Amino acid sequence: MTETNILRLRVSICGAVQGVGFRPFIYRLAHELNLAGWVLNSSGGVLIEVEGERKQLNKFLLRIEKDKPQNAFIQSLEPAFLDQVGYKKFEIRESIIGEKSVLILPDIATCPECIKEIFDPQNRRYLYPFTNCTHCGPRYSIIEALPYDRPNTTMKNFTMCQNCEAEYNNPQDRRFHAQPNACSECGPYLRLWDAQGQVTATRQQALEKTVQAIKAGQIVAVKGLGGFHLMVDALDQDAISRLRLRKHRESKPLALMYPSLVDIYNDCELTPLQERLLNSAEAPIVMVRRKEECSLPNNIAPHNPYLGVMVPYTPLHHLLLQQLGSPVVATSANLSNETICIDEQEALRCLAGIADIFLIHNRPITRHADDSIVRIFSGREIVMRRARGYAPLPITLTAPVKNTVLAVGGHLKNTIAIGRGRNVFVSPHIGDLDAARTFDTFVRTIDDFKDLYEFDFKNAVCDLHPAYRSTQFVKSLDFPVLQVQHHYAHILSCMAENELAAPVLGVSWDGTGYGPDKTVWGGEFLKINDKGFERFMHLREFHLPGGTSAVREPRRIAARILYELFGDELFDMHKLLCLQAFSEAELKNLRVVLEKKINSPVTSSMGRLFDAVSSLLGIRNIIQFEGQAAMELEFAIKDASTEDIFSIDIKDGIIDGHLVLKEILGDIEKSVNTKIIAAKFHNTLAQIIVEVAKEAKIEKVVLSGGCFQNKYLTEHAIDRLRKAGFKPYWHQRVPPNDGGISLGQIISAQRDG
Ligand code: ZN
Ligand code: ZN
Ligand code: FE
Repeated sequence: MTETNILRLRVSICGAVQGVGFRPFIYRLAHELNLAGWVLNSSGGVLIEVEGERKQLNKFLLRIEKDKPQNAFIQSLEPAFLDQVGYKKFEIRESIIGEKSVLILPDIATCPECIKEIFDPQNRRYLYPFTNCTHCGPRYSIIEALPYDRPNTTMKNFTMCQNCEAEYNNPQDRRFHAQPNACSECGPYLRLWDAQGQVTATRQQALEKTVQAIKAGQIVAVKGLGGFHLMVDALDQDAISRLRLRKHRESKPLALMYPSLVDIYNDCELTPLQERLLNSAEAPIVMVRRKEECSLPNNIAPHNPYLGVMVPYTPLHHLLLQQLGSPVVATSANLSNETICIDEQEALRCLAGIADIFLIHNRPITRHADDSIVRIFSGREIVMRRARGYAPLPITLTAPVKNTVLAVGGHLKNTIAIGRGRNVFVSPHIGDLDAARTFDTFVRTIDDFKDLYEFDFKNAVCDLHPAYRSTQFVKSLDFPVLQVQHHYAHILSCMAENELAAPVLGVSWDGTGYGPDKTVWGGEFLKINDKGFERFMHLREFHLPGGTSAVREPRRIAARILYELFGDELFDMHKLLCLQAFSEAELKNLRVVLEKKINSPVTSSMGRLFDAVSSLLGIRNIIQFEGQAAMELEFAIKDASTEDIFSIDIKDGIIDGHLVLKEILGDIEKSVNTKIIAAKFHNTLAQIIVEVAKEAKIEKVVLSGGCFQNKYLTEHAIDRLRKAGFKPYWHQRVPPNDGGISLGQIISAQRDG
């Protein structure tokens, strides 16, 4: 097992990058940085592959955008780090004129030239909030049908004025064939509604009144690109509390929109890679570390060292934030986990009692696209929520799919996907299918993809779980359906984007997934072979006392595992914080549930083990949002720097998590600092991965599932695996959480269908 420092970087770029000297520029840049590989034009844009050391590759990536030719404009840039193939020199390859491109571009953040225009009093688009050009503006959210021409967009009802028409028809103009082209004479405009939907102001005045309202602490629903935001002044603690109260969102972190990058510097630490992402055409929410001296109210992201930040990505946002001069909270306008609102009548209904006023406009949104969320793990970006700016650009496979397939994904963080040719089109994040509105969006997205891609599927793929609404839906259709095990799908999705073939060892860790043995899986080691998978090892099982209430109450899981270790003695361990979290009456009740195993399904879930430890350490006993207990356990590590681990016991394919809990108890009794215990717990899990890899004797180790949204765990697993001579792989463009399930299902249909 050899460790190589040479990686291959693939970069897919869409935009005005053809016929502007882009390929010669890449050629020169690659030579300057001593990278081998190639560049070529394809129907979907420019494709680049270069090989070299990671540091050089990162430099290459940053310099593409910094030093690109003057007339080149990038609308989308997605990197993927892959295994090297051994290029010897750099060359410009012949163009691929493949299948006529069915690429639908995502919405693109406002370009620098358009920004200049809206702030230039001499320009005819001065302060016009719907300014755009061929380089920027809405795409996915306004397209009703293909081809992408104005009559097929929601701009069809706006007739261009003479000036706009002249730009549209002039090949020398930046707005030549810019489909959403508009100005204040002829295009969409703003309106301000009160809570009853009565117009209180229009156009410029609507914007000014909105600024005043936010400064006065009001909650404003703002219609943006792919849906509505709820906005409040990020410096106003009371306004944020009010928003949380009305939205029933007690403590889940809220995203921020800053006027500019410079303003983010005041509050947060930024790396060059994070800067690149914030400034990119995708303009996602980027998770960044808040500075010690950051003075923002704590209720934006309680108990959280990170902030989710973005910069304005539409002219409307630019104008609003510039006039405000300080950041706003900008959170999706919905009830928790529902689809984001896209229509003003719908918003008025759904946000009644939440928003004080509504800043709306008359350019309809065809389909929703939430803000995407990106983090940096091990010096590389990882998309945690793939939506605006990214979806529906395809994930390209190494081989074409055998037949056109529809994959309907999981249940939480649902996405759907279709496979066609070598492309898999994954939908933007849809949400949790429990809510009726979200389920409607799910069905609508399937119909929508069918129409947009003129896609006639013959087969469908879904999760193995019989109770998932996605499973039930697809089974009600008249198609052959393949059901795919959840954790297997996680690993396949990660293999696909890393272009890996079997054999690999899949480490699939998350909260829950249906196992073929009808138990709840979640701490799985899967050997992936050419045919399918083998459950090689898994976390020692335990009961979930009270089923779903155990998921809400980590204290129940802690109590259960301790009960399995100590029996009735547990109830004499009065010092335990997880027990102190129960009232007398609750304890009595719990005792019966534990003894008789009432409503206590068996699970091997790693997510639940995180919950148990979080409660045992007194960090989180009852959660307010999914993943909270595990998240806060990770954050509890703070600045602890220890490589110590607890004992590891692996026997007969079972990893003993109970033993880890027992040792944690020992540390607690010795009054070891919580941050040290939290670090040791994470280190132990990372080392467990190494130990299992050694037993499996498989070089390639693939990390997927919701647990790998944990930065500390992922980075330490990567480090330990590398040091032990293994090759770790993790996610890049597709989320490790259930947003990636639909991609994995498509792959399964190729292997197993
Ligand atoms: Zn522009
Ligand atoms: Zn006009
Ligand atoms: Fe999962």
